[in-house]
Amino acid sequence: IRGTRMPVTGTSEMKQLASTINALVAEFDRQEGWRKQMMQDLAHELRTPLTSLLSRIDAILDGILPATEENMHKIHTEIDRLCRLVDDLEKLSEAEGARFELNIGQVDMTQLVKDVYEGFLFMSKGKDIHFTFQKPHVPCYAEVDPDRFIQIISNLVSNAIKYTPAGGSVEMGLYPAETGIVFYCQDNGIGISKKDLPLIFNRFYRVDKSRRRKNASGGIGVGLSIAKALAEAHGGTIGVESAPGKGSKFYVNI
Ligand code: ADP
Repeated sequence: IRGTRMPVTGTSEMKQLASTINALVAEFDRQEGWRKQMMQDLAHELRTPLTSLLSRIDAILDGILPATEENMHKIHTEIDRLCRLVDDLEKLSEAEGARFELNIGQVDMTQLVKDVYEGFLFMSKGKDIHFTFQKPHVPCYAEVDPDRFIQIISNLVSNAIKYTPAGGSVEMGLYPAETGIVFYCQDNGIGISKKDLPLIFNRFYRVDKSRRRKNASGGIGVGLSIAKALAEAHGGTIGVESAPGKGSKFYVNI
């Protein structure tokens, strides 16, 4: 049925039916196109590190490259990145899956965010980033799945640290609003252009593909799609304000 279009003629019921079928086929085409693109991106994403691993191991076997600790360490780092890539894919398909279940409970959000904050202190210090948590003045409780919420926050904070140069700052905060509890993560890093802003929550979207691939700690552009799927599974929303060179502010409304 790919590409099929029904003529919209006949009685008004027939016209409506034809229009509905056309809309369904168009959606099917769109999904199919997306699936193909995703498979291509994935194959590329896997082939690049695998080819480089293979050539390095071949060189060691041929005696061209010495099997030193340093060379083995490089191989280890690359395999480690591949494992994280597969983990990310699993998390994404889980978060977007129909069978996805949340373990919702009443959660002290201040404590939850504080725990995440402490977990990232080491990483931020290592990069010389001024990292702070603005504690709310009032108790902030929400009905969330704590593990999934930690995942949302962690994705936002690790990005903020990753895309903020040394000497910059990252601030996390929490406050009650009319619409619920708002969590935010603000950095004064590289920021995101107007053109890229609407696309960053798409699966596999990365602003600078070449820079990301050179960076062994880099993900594959699914961190924000996971965060979005998880926020939406909670009935919440996720958003961003950003300006290139000034920084970004991500927020989650639950
Ligand atoms: P990844 O970080 O693995 O590439 P994400 O889905 O987490 O994937 O992010 C998608 C893209 O959005 C990133 O590649 C980056 O270009 C951009 N981005 C995300 N967070 C920030 C941030 N805090 N500052 C600047 N750019 C960001």
